[in-house]
Amino acid sequence: MTITDYKSKQGSCKFKKSDKNSLKLKPLEVIELVKESVSIEEMLDFYFGIDLSAAKGRKTKFICCPFHSEKTPSFAVTPSLNKFQCFGCGCKGDSITLVSLQKNVKQARAAYIIAEDFKLLGNADQQLKNKISLTVEDKQELQEFFNTERTTFNFLSDFKRMIDEIIKNRIQSEKDMELYGYLYHWSFKINSLMDLLIGAENTSGEQRVDNFFYIQHWIESKAYPMLSSKLERLI
Ligand SMILES: [Zn+2]
Repeated sequence: MTITDYKSKQGSCKFKKSDKNSLKLKPLEVIELVKESVSIEEMLDFYFGIDLSAAKGRKTKFICCPFHSEKTPSFAVTPSLNKFQCFGCGCKGDSITLVSLQKNVKQARAAYIIAEDFKLLGNADQQLKNKISLTVEDKQELQEFFNTERTTFNFLSDFKRMIDEIIKNRIQSEKDMELYGYLYHWSFKINSLMDLLIGAENTSGEQRVDNFFYIQHWIESKAYPMLSSKLERLI
């Protein structure tokens, strides 16, 4: 990846806000609306005629699987997590997956069907719709952030490979060592920044963002100048 590639990918990560006045919901928003408004118990009752309150189990209830034939219940439903899983046929998912499996349609289509059956589209109040579109935006922004993190990692990885290559080709004597020895520090530094990104998933949200901006700053203030001045002559 070149600096230009990297910069253009960075540039595509925009944190834009859409028009909140629009009443028409996007597919992701309908999915959120359904999850907010209809419980997995209500869906089982409405679409499968299954009364979950009669089933065995506390937090997780066991019923006979609606998707394969069985006599012993192996279909686990956990309403508090909005999740189900069948230990017989292996199907699993959330409340919307239930309907998408039954009707053999995709998640977004299933969400529309549920929204219509439960009359959510007309009745949902503006406040709830606003809240939902914010949730969806947050998710999309988060996804963009993860993508940018990955782009940054790839950039660092290419940068390190380049420096290691120069070290391998250029440093063959004491004198070379004196001239280019500093490149070892660069290689080590980049490695430690890559470690920060690799550990990102186990880092708290705020720390993760801080780390990312620290690395961004380092790239702009140190890596770019280095690439465009010294390194170009060494490659
Ligand atoms: Zn099953």
